[in-house]
Amino acid sequence: MNYTEIAHDVEKYVLHTYNRFPIAIESGQGMRVKDVAGREYLDFMAGIAVYALGYHYPGYDEALKAQIDKVLHTSNLYYHEPLARAAKAVVESSGLDKVFFTNSGAEAVEGALKAARKYAWLKDGKNDHEIIAMAGSFHGRSVGALSVTGNDHYQEPFRPLMGGIKFAEFNNLSSVEALVNETTCAIILETVQGEGGIHPADKDFLQGIRKLCDEKDIVLILDEIQCGMGRTGTMWAFEQYGVKPDILCCAKALGCGVPVGAFVLNEKLAAASLAPGDHGTTYGGNPFVLAAVDTVFKLFEEADILDHVGKISGYLAERLDDLAARHDSVKAHRGLGLMRGLELAPDCPVGQVTSKALEKGLLIISAGGNVLRFVPPLIITEKEVDEAVAILDECL
Ligand SMILES: *Cc1c(COP(=O)(O)O)cnc(C)c1O
Repeated sequence: MNYTEIAHDVEKYVLHTYNRFPIAIESGQGMRVKDVAGREYLDFMAGIAVYALGYHYPGYDEALKAQIDKVLHTSNLYYHEPLARAAKAVVESSGLDKVFFTNSGAEAVEGALKAARKYAWLKDGKNDHEIIAMAGSFHGRSVGALSVTGNDHYQEPFRPLMGGIKFAEFNNLSSVEALVNETTCAIILETVQGEGGIHPADKDFLQGIRKLCDEKDIVLILDEIQCGMGRTGTMWAFEQYGVKPDILCCAKALGCGVPVGAFVLNEKLAAASLAPGDHGTTYGGNPFVLAAVDTVFKLFEEADILDHVGKISGYLAERLDDLAARHDSVKAHRGLGLMRGLELAPDCPVGQVTSKALEKGLLIISAGGNVLRFVPPLIITEKEVDEAVAILDECL
């Protein structure tokens, strides 16, 4: 099918919840994708921070093909080797103790919220437990995850949502302290807010929250669905803050292209929260997706991806600083590692910049607050940074 035929049928048959860019992607290789007309694009959005290893990274496809030839799906009623391998990799990398695999980020958040509520319920048997979340956050579109997403526009048509949620101001510790009471069971936040406009947590803020949670036995849930898996230069962004969550949520780059997420619990939560009968999933963590997760961890280590991110992210940051200095339309540059944002002036709508960039052969997306979002594959090199910056220079 050509682009016109594809777009026609998609618009005719698919529920219109996305305004799509006007290209149809056919294939990818490394840092680039090709559309059905044969045109190539440099990819700086990586399937929204999913394709950490880019397209067809050597060894990835082979591992998945081998798993297809064995078994795709078994149900969680049976043991399988990819589960053993992937669970060990995720748990050891996080320094936490037990993992539950899901199909998506939203489901990882749902599971984390349930675990926190159950932990509090086991302590006092009450049903009044509150959760504190952050303004400007994003945790997913399912009802539980949406309930802790601090964005009125996303929430409004769907109220009433899950009860017992209060919102504090991100990077304002006293606003969190003011909401804590004897019913508070959890605090959930992104270590680096993604969708909300690329805002890293301040060190004092996150350390203060950890201390507060320790003092009051409140569950700290860190959502690293977007900022985890090496994106900020460490496997998990929290490693740079000297804190550890009680529950970690991950997804996006966890499987580098297959739909998989996870929530990971420390020993305390694992021992006293979800038990047989409390939680489940038909597909979650099936052999196919976990063969991918296992392979991703192996490839990250073999290629020393974290070391590469450490080196290349400084170069990207420099080039973006330079772009910000040369264009009045760029108001600020923020980020950590290969997760960065350029905040644009109100008279420079980010949608126009991403559309212009597409015309010039660059895939890049926005984030909230008129921000141009940079989440390229972690295998990016200086040459590709230069290419993207040159295109954006023209667009701005
Ligand atoms: C993408 C994202 C989610 C939701 O993940 P889905 O797989 O789309 O459900 C949750 N939290 C954060 C921080 C995200 O970036």
